[in-house]
Amino acid sequence: MLKKLQDTSSLLLAIFNNINYLVITTSKDGIITSFNRKAEQMLGYEASELIGKHTPAIFHYPPEILDRATQFSNELNIALEPGFEVFVIKSKLGFPNEYEWTYIAKNGAHIPVLLSVTSLHDNDGLLIGYVGISRDITAEKETYEQFIHSKQLLNEAQNLAKVGSWSLDLTQNYLEWSDEIYRIFEIDPIKFNPSYEGFLNAIHPEDVEIVQEAFSQSVQNQTPYSITHRLLMSDGRVKYVVENGITTYSDEGTSLFSHGTVQDITEIKVLQEELNLHNQELEAILETTRDGIAIVDMDSNFLYVNNAYLKMSGFTKEELMGKTFVGFSVPEDSARLALRLKEVVDKGFIQNIEKTCIVANGKRVKLNISMALMPDKQRILISTKDIAEAKALEKKLHDYIALVDEHIITSSTDVKGNIVYASKAFCRISQYSEEELIGKNHRIIRHPDMPASLYDELWKTITMDKSWAGEIKNIAKDGSFYWVYAAIAPTWDEDGKKVGYTAIRQDITDKKRIEELSITDRLTGLYNRLKLDEVFMYELVQSKRFHAPLSIILLDIDHFKHVNDTYGHQVGDQVLQHIANILRSIGRKADTIGRWGGEEFLIVLPQTDRDGAIKMGEKIRLGVEDYSFPVIGKKTASFGIAEFQEEDNQSTLVERADRALYRAKNEGRNRVAG
Ligand code: GH3
Ligand code: MG
Ligand code: MG
Repeated sequence: MLKKLQDTSSLLLAIFNNINYLVITTSKDGIITSFNRKAEQMLGYEASELIGKHTPAIFHYPPEILDRATQFSNELNIALEPGFEVFVIKSKLGFPNEYEWTYIAKNGAHIPVLLSVTSLHDNDGLLIGYVGISRDITAEKETYEQFIHSKQLLNEAQNLAKVGSWSLDLTQNYLEWSDEIYRIFEIDPIKFNPSYEGFLNAIHPEDVEIVQEAFSQSVQNQTPYSITHRLLMSDGRVKYVVENGITTYSDEGTSLFSHGTVQDITEIKVLQEELNLHNQELEAILETTRDGIAIVDMDSNFLYVNNAYLKMSGFTKEELMGKTFVGFSVPEDSARLALRLKEVVDKGFIQNIEKTCIVANGKRVKLNISMALMPDKQRILISTKDIAEAKALEKKLHDYIALVDEHIITSSTDVKGNIVYASKAFCRISQYSEEELIGKNHRIIRHPDMPASLYDELWKTITMDKSWAGEIKNIAKDGSFYWVYAAIAPTWDEDGKKVGYTAIRQDITDKKRIEELSITDRLTGLYNRLKLDEVFMYELVQSKRFHAPLSIILLDIDHFKHVNDTYGHQVGDQVLQHIANILRSIGRKADTIGRWGGEEFLIVLPQTDRDGAIKMGEKIRLGVEDYSFPVIGKKTASFGIAEFQEEDNQSTLVERADRALYRAKNEGRNRVAG
């Protein structure tokens, strides 16, 4: 019996010292009574150092461990033995449980262990102490921490990718969600357990049916499923998710386990919608633009053509697809086009090359082509403009300009009057070459006969940005003259800045010559100088022959220059016309009224002596004085009278009238002298 007992105790001792567990026994007060070899190894103490010592004094439990002990006791509803603060804990179930614990080794290292504590009792059932058996779980701990770490990594990855994963044990009906699913569904993981209902609740009501259908189809057909659907958040926001799932089956075909992913693609979806809109806009532009647009691959095979391109080419989309852009070139030029396409690859783009292509029915069209390498460097965008129309227009314009140049006497000057352009017709009439004219001042063609006042007025008008028109006598290179009717207007550049003047002229030299041959003054309708001379001769002869009196009245408008200077030449002309009307209305039938020159008029009065002529002069003077002229109002004239004497000829008579007129002017104007 004793032997047996000894055997038992030596066996226990062998186990005690060789077991791979830490075994520590204490008295009921926590005094260490034994400490096995494994414990010595693990904690770095000699058993002799510890036996007889109180556990807490030796193990230096850190405060958080004490906290945990309290937490354990509360959670598991177990009592901490008084006076044994550390870990003497009894399971409420009455048998020892294992707890995760931490020992502190002699060198301060933390040793994680799985510990179970059992109380020891004597034969009478009295508590005599405790035995703690623990297992070093450092390795498991590390693995677990690695597991936690990789789970965190997975979680972070899922968070970044917005992909959550789930698994559903169909036999246990146990569903597990990754953290990201909670985030996507915006469900608080503390409050909700994952459930299929929870999942269905988050789905947009309009999409519930298709999701259920997809899942059940997948399970039935044993095929994976993938579906995009919406989620409806509690605040009304809509999210888009892609769901992928697969189910595994037993050999008998019963479904065991489903797992899948949920990816939040709301952002992608929003971007995609933006992109769609953008694409639609782009397409609308492409389809409405007048430029032909084609996209070809690197071998110039057509990939895309817009409406304008089809219209330009006369082909249908079907006819173009499968053909190459180079194939439409005129054969003699296709090699060059292929080279150009290579150039696009190198340079990225080529702009505005002209190219003849063959389109439907073998028709040749001239195109303006620009090409650009698409960002993917796999395709080339070709933009074409049919330039036949533009070319025709250009030619038309060119012809028109040539026509104008050839036939219209036109010139342009800068703001100072220096010639910058002269048409061929202008060169012809002025007898100067273009080179001789360009850069010269327009004065080069000014005829000395033209009064300076006319040019003053012309410049005054055009510098005020108005246009001027009138008859001008010009001098040609050889000194001969020509008459033009000129319309002169300021010219502006695109920015609205005045750059000069342009004159368009009509050659009126012939008209002027005919006028000179005619007998009426063109402006007033009165007889002109030519006719006056003729009448004069006739009346002089008559007067001599019949010894009949004959007088003349020379009329000169007072301060007429002032009218031109103040109101312009045209108003001056009008005044001359009104004066002519006054003369016509007052003059007698036998009288000959004519324009002597400028603002001077001559009236030949047959059968009239000096007194009669003075009376007549006075009548006219009053007629003018009383007249209300448009624009200028009042105007007067001075009169010189001369009566024919035996020895007179035309010029002596006129000379006398002129002297009388000079006197009238000197005596204060608006009077008759003679
Ligand atoms: P006075 O009282 O001394 O006669 O002054 P005046 O300004 O009338 O005299 P002057 O001889 O200095 O000026 C005559 C002006 O008449 C000069 C010329 O420009 C103008 N004139 C001459 N012929 C025409 C014409 O056909 N049309 C216009 N509008 N003006 C003319
Ligand atoms: Mg005069
Ligand atoms: Mg005058």
